[in-house]
Amino acid sequence: MKATNAIKRQQRKLFIGEIISFAIIFTVLGFIIYALFQNAIYSNVDRSIEIQKEQILTNTIPDLPDPTGTSNQSSFNSSNNPPQNRTQNPGAGSPFQTETLIFAKDGTISNQDTIGQRNYQLLQQIKLDKSKKNKLVDLTVSTGNNLTSSFRTELIYVPTSNENAEYAGKYVIILANVDSEIMAIHSFQIVFLITLAIFAVLAVIVSYYLSRRSMQPIIKAWNRQQEFSADAAHELRTPLTVIQNNLEYLLTKPNAKIIDETESISNGLDETRRLKKLTESLLMLSRSDSNVLQLNVEETDVKTFFNNLITPYVEIASSQDKSLRIENNFNGSAQLDGGLIKQLSVILLDNALKYTPAGGTIVVTVAQVGTDLNLTVTDTGIGITDKDKENIFERFYRADNSRTQKTGGNGLGLSIAKWITEQHQGTITVTDNHPTGAKFIVKIPVK
Ligand code: ADP
Repeated sequence: MKATNAIKRQQRKLFIGEIISFAIIFTVLGFIIYALFQNAIYSNVDRSIEIQKEQILTNTIPDLPDPTGTSNQSSFNSSNNPPQNRTQNPGAGSPFQTETLIFAKDGTISNQDTIGQRNYQLLQQIKLDKSKKNKLVDLTVSTGNNLTSSFRTELIYVPTSNENAEYAGKYVIILANVDSEIMAIHSFQIVFLITLAIFAVLAVIVSYYLSRRSMQPIIKAWNRQQEFSADAAHELRTPLTVIQNNLEYLLTKPNAKIIDETESISNGLDETRRLKKLTESLLMLSRSDSNVLQLNVEETDVKTFFNNLITPYVEIASSQDKSLRIENNFNGSAQLDGGLIKQLSVILLDNALKYTPAGGTIVVTVAQVGTDLNLTVTDTGIGITDKDKENIFERFYRADNSRTQKTGGNGLGLSIAKWITEQHQGTITVTDNHPTGAKFIVKIPVK
């Protein structure tokens, strides 16, 4: 299928549009997941700090700090080891481990004994900044060897009225080590970026595939339209040329009598008729394409309808030394668009006559088979090859042997016949007639 530049441009636009849509969806989704993950992780930490704060301010700490500083709280020197909880009951339901630093009036840490020497060395990097009171602040302290330890902290002021003399009237920082949380977020970021990269590649592939797929019907319709216009122009040119030639010839004989030039005049007239038929067919097809044509169905007495329609053809056939027989066994009526069914029958009858040489026989049967009205037109003519059978319902398709026969056709009749049948929810098929000829079978559901 040949895609033109316009089609390629459209496909590129679709592709870019789809990529942008995917990018927006993934980015929004990514941010939502990331924000939810981070929020979930920090909400635990914040709750622990809040509980610890509550306990200090209400003096409900279950156990006082271990004054020896030898308890299990000396693990700040590794960024992987969070400090141990001083409140042996870790914050009454708090899943988190917190530490407290008490600042003396001069800003020095007054509880260095309780936090242990190693921890003190690390935590003394934290300076008292009263402006941060009652705010959650993230801090990072250096643990040496280019390693750091991170904390989420809150500075509180314990009123002098507090019963715990150690805290009363002092500034206290509650710290929660968040090294493992930061690592989790970091791992999440890496996994997330890898996933995003995989999705980006997938998005490109899917967008490419989708843009190609959605263009297929457009390309098909475009090509069909191109072919149709080219074929129509070609079919129109032939009769126009013949008419022009005849008229030009007549101009060279200004003194001739009409009776002497009847051949040129009748040739011109034949081509005018052909032109009229062709434009009518083109109009019909273009209306059918744009769904302008509406079915005008009405209750029809089938037997009478087909008898009236076909009988004149008996005469026409015999004038061409062919015999035409009607077998009309349909009793009753059916919902049909009389005008269109007439057009369909005429196309089949015309073809049967056109492609059957003198001496041949044409049989038209109308019958009820099950719930269908069956119309078959059988001839003993030139027949249709299997390859042509696949294409004869296409617009402008003409079998080679009929082109050479100068039948005056244009290859539109059967595509119109097919459209009319389908409008009646029916089917049209073609098979061989034995020993020669073709058999067209139209089935239209009527009950
Ligand atoms: P056309 O105007 O050429 O007859 P149609 O669409 O009616 O156009 O038919 C398409 C082609 O199908 C014809 O050109 C012819 O090759 C073939 N065809 C149709 N009816 C018959 C028939 N009864 N016998 C043999 N060939 C037929």
